[in-house]
Amino acid sequence: MGNFDHFKYMEKHRYEQIVYFYDKTTGLKGITAIHNTTLGPALGGTRLWNYACEDDAVLDCLRLARGMTYKAAAAGLNLGGGKTVLIGDANKVKTEAYFRALGRYVQSLNGRYITAEDINTSTSDMDFVKMETDYVVGLEGKSGNPSPMTALGAFYGIKASLKYKFDDENISNYSFAVQGAGQTGYYLVKYLLEANARKVYFTEINDKHIARMKKEHPEVEFIEPDKIFEADVDVFVPCALGGMLDDVTIPKLKAKVVAGTANNILFDDDTHGKMLKDRDILYAPDFVINAGGLINVYHELKSYDKDTAKRDIQRIYDRLLEIFSIADQEDIHTQQAAKVFAKNRIETINRLHDNYIKR
Ligand code: NAD
Repeated sequence: MGNFDHFKYMEKHRYEQIVYFYDKTTGLKGITAIHNTTLGPALGGTRLWNYACEDDAVLDCLRLARGMTYKAAAAGLNLGGGKTVLIGDANKVKTEAYFRALGRYVQSLNGRYITAEDINTSTSDMDFVKMETDYVVGLEGKSGNPSPMTALGAFYGIKASLKYKFDDENISNYSFAVQGAGQTGYYLVKYLLEANARKVYFTEINDKHIARMKKEHPEVEFIEPDKIFEADVDVFVPCALGGMLDDVTIPKLKAKVVAGTANNILFDDDTHGKMLKDRDILYAPDFVINAGGLINVYHELKSYDKDTAKRDIQRIYDRLLEIFSIADQEDIHTQQAAKVFAKNRIETINRLHDNYIKR
């Protein structure tokens, strides 16, 4: 990693800005990356992580910020992509002053960037950030826990995938294998059962989550983690960690559809997106199907109304159908089609700025 050239990377992927900040009182060390603000202010959470080196932190921040650009664009939101990473040990650094210091740096960007919680930062940490800036969302008592909304979006995404693949979106005709029954997987299983799914299997590595599922939904059958890929089902529903579909796991899949909440499901977007296409397995692109939480939090920037947010989340259904048909027309894999879809929206809206309108 020693030769990582930040400007070359920024030029290649067209980033707008990287900001470094350090607060001497609290020891806060962080980086904010702003990828693209064509559609609106860059929004992305603040991740706190004990990175092995600074280049790792910068690269993680840059990649995550770029991912947010595509996610917001594909979700039809007027938001750009950004991210903040803080370098530190989550068990040691977190205090009121630490997060207020972060809030002051966020405020200094004057609304070009809006932050939220992410790994190792919580909604209550964001309450401290809020004391110093107007540019933070996902606060306690506002749009609330994003996970049920992410799961709801994925539920509509599963229906769209079934419609496209089998021309029948009736959940009761299908079987599902859900990988991960944490925050989002737990809610998604509930939605599938409420829609009378023919059969639901799940896998987990956390004993508490296994016990919760067995107690609340005894009809949902447990499968060992390494056996979930070969489950004889219609839909594989990844709701655990990223990188689960690769050279080894894809050949095992019996499902004809992959649609779930996890981020970065494909170990390598191009290789494994194509591999799924070649196996005639329909893949619902991760950053499109799992945007429900982001759409929900976006509504906090207006006056938050849960029903309006839910209506917007339902639109994931139509977006996926459009993306699947782009993939077919252009003979590309669906992850590639999702990026084409997102880039098209950014470029089209950008062209609208050509003529001056007084407002
Ligand atoms: P979570 O940590 O609450 O749940 C993930 C679960 O997966 C955990 O219970 C964990 O024990 C389990 N798990 C991990 N590895 C496993 C394995 N090999 N086999 C079986 N189970 C395994 O996380 P979450 O909030 O539900 O998020 C799940 C995925 O969805 C992540 O990739 C996350 O980035 C993505 N996502 C979440 C949201 C959200 O609103 N929470 C939004 C967008 C994307």
